[in-house]
Amino acid sequence: MNWKPSDQRYSNMIYNYCGKSGLKLPAISLGLWHNFGYDVSHERKQAICRRAFDLGITHFDLANNYGPPPGSAEKSFGRILKEDFAGYRDQLLISSKAGYDMWPGPYGEWGSRKYLIASCDQSLKRMGLDYVDIFYSHRFDPNTPLEETMMALDHIVRSGRALYAGISSYNSDRTRRAVAIMKELGTPCLIHQPSYSMLNRWVEDDGLLDTLEEEGVGSIVFSPLAQGMLTDKYLGGVPETSRAGKDKPSFRPDFLNDQNLENIRALNEIAKKRGQSLAQMAIAWVLKKGRVTSALIGASKPEQVEDCIGALDNLNFSENELKEIDQYAKDGAINIWAQSAELE
Ligand code: NAP
Repeated sequence: MNWKPSDQRYSNMIYNYCGKSGLKLPAISLGLWHNFGYDVSHERKQAICRRAFDLGITHFDLANNYGPPPGSAEKSFGRILKEDFAGYRDQLLISSKAGYDMWPGPYGEWGSRKYLIASCDQSLKRMGLDYVDIFYSHRFDPNTPLEETMMALDHIVRSGRALYAGISSYNSDRTRRAVAIMKELGTPCLIHQPSYSMLNRWVEDDGLLDTLEEEGVGSIVFSPLAQGMLTDKYLGGVPETSRAGKDKPSFRPDFLNDQNLENIRALNEIAKKRGQSLAQMAIAWVLKKGRVTSALIGASKPEQVEDCIGALDNLNFSENELKEIDQYAKDGAINIWAQSAELE
């Protein structure tokens, strides 16, 4: 029997305007960086995406290199689009990116016009799409004029390959420059995708969040659960099926040192007092005070998506709670992602 999404899917999600645009993003979006390669069954990937859409997650975030192998997450999602989401394209926001190493030779990474346009075409083909909703420059390229990278994004939008353009992991200064160039070109920068979590606050220190507010650019923050560290899953050891247990290169073994685990245990207790799981509190924390448009989570099973959505039931923190969280999350902060997400 053909699967149909729940009729109730829009009732519990919050949708936020993305910066000063007319586009609304769900407060929680799903990323397909991990768990959507060929190492995971189609049925599991399908179950995660179905559950997400059923719960009001309309935004699915991809990139050319997600897998393993690179490209396989887009292929896998293309199959789900065809088999499950056919007929719902206008209810979905799909994004992709280019910036990291994708194919051999001098044109397979970074920020040239040559690479970005070719990569966007490849992504569309892998997903079986005519257009993506958002296309990103995945990382700042120090060796390509910023004008060239932004002109490539402008072209990608004007040629109909994407509806909107964004940037990822650019620091505050570079963001200001990119936004100004795009304004001049006539294709505004819709959104920025930086890393952000209780354990990783570079967007505050660098002034990026302030810059985005001033410029009217939306924000979708990746790894709000610090790749799973901000959940209770590692408190009793390392499950074999977890990202740490699978030895994924992005999850460094020293993330789970004794000091960090002690801090995570304390954070877990604060979450319990709030009546939330630690994952829910971590998501609520990035969304607090409406500074962030969407929290971009990953999930290895549908139940995790369900748990995460529960965060929306309580997005408010008292000043005391925030102070208490800072005691364990700020001083013992783990700098998982620097300004550019070099591990991806
Ligand atoms: P995350 O939400 O911090 O971590 C996701 C992981 O946390 C899951 O794979 C799962 O770990 C665990 N998890 C999720 N919900 C849970 C729950 N309720 N209870 C227990 N564990 C739970 O995010 P991420 O996967 O690192 O990144 C999210 C997305 O951000 C990516 O898919 C990608 O779209 C984007 N991203 C972008 C960049 C960039 O440079 N722009 C870089 C990185 C990521 P297990 O797999 O161990 O079960």
